[in-house]
Amino acid sequence: MSDVSNSDAALRLSAVGKNYGRIRALDGLDLVVPSGSVFGLVGPNGAGKTTTFSIACGWLRADQGTVDLLNGGAFDAVRHRGRVTALPQDSALGRDMTVVEQLTYLGRLQGLGAKATRSEVERILTLVKLTDRAGDRVRTLSHGMLRRVGIGQAFLGNPELVLLDEPTNGLDPRQAHSIREFVAAQRGTRTIVISSHNLHEIETVCDHVALIDRGRVVMAGPISTVTGRNGEVRIALGDGPVPLEETRMALSGDAVEWDQVARVLTLRFIEKPGRAAEDVTGSALRALLAGGARISSVSRGQSLERKYLDLPAGRPPPLPGDRTET
Ligand code: ATP
Repeated sequence: MSDVSNSDAALRLSAVGKNYGRIRALDGLDLVVPSGSVFGLVGPNGAGKTTTFSIACGWLRADQGTVDLLNGGAFDAVRHRGRVTALPQDSALGRDMTVVEQLTYLGRLQGLGAKATRSEVERILTLVKLTDRAGDRVRTLSHGMLRRVGIGQAFLGNPELVLLDEPTNGLDPRQAHSIREFVAAQRGTRTIVISSHNLHEIETVCDHVALIDRGRVVMAGPISTVTGRNGEVRIALGDGPVPLEETRMALSGDAVEWDQVARVLTLRFIEKPGRAAEDVTGSALRALLAGGARISSVSRGQSLERKYLDLPAGRPPPLPGDRTET
């Protein structure tokens, strides 16, 4: 978990449990979302991401554990009004309203005045590139356009925390890219939590991530830590010599592993002054080239996807009534 104090967390869930009948959706989930972060929530289908969002927004109540939203306890319609917004997974919009009417209605619900709502709606329509469809009825929009209205409404006003459940699901690549750029541009202005199955997207847009599996957080932290960007370099070699001993000597003290099948050399080290990833990579490459190796590629850390795929498959969560703690 990220090591942040209470006051630095925009959202904190501690030991949260949630059952739907006999289904244990959340099983003691601990999650800390640092204030100001762009935080990715990833996990397989049914891991509990949407349930986590729903509890954070106050749409569902936790059966066990505590929730603290913006240092104001669990969601409270008065205390948190206008401060927390969400794009639900299957956002339902008023189909017979026009896009402008829909956004205006949601802006007013957020507590914005009539004038502020008008300028906010204009700003949002521009941001999500729907100005030309402003007067059209919601039911005439494509799936991707509906998604963009949903994303836009989540940024109306000045929310401190925005929860986006699979924001780019169903968008064409260009639109998905523009939404990613839009979200990335919001960095530092507010806290944003994104759930997505697109790990490349999470890696590109987010600075923190939590991997959820079977209702529990199994790994969390800054993306660079989770993927080992600051302590791992992988060098793929083409056919030819593998001067392993020379490389090990050049990197005295750092771990050097050679994967014969993948032909990948993995260097693991602890960064310190004068021993940054660049320094370690430079020493290794010099030794490799001097020994006649042919370099195919160099990369830092593992991709989030690799990290995710390497996680051991867990056991199914216990059903209520037959809990056997490990
Ligand atoms: P996905 O990636 O498929 O959207 P998720 O990580 O968002 O999944 P949840 O939707 O939170 O997962 O579901 C967690 C578990 O709770 C699943 O086993 C799911 O079947 C169950 N569940 C979710 N909503 C309900 C519900 N309303 N009634 C019964 N079970 C539910």
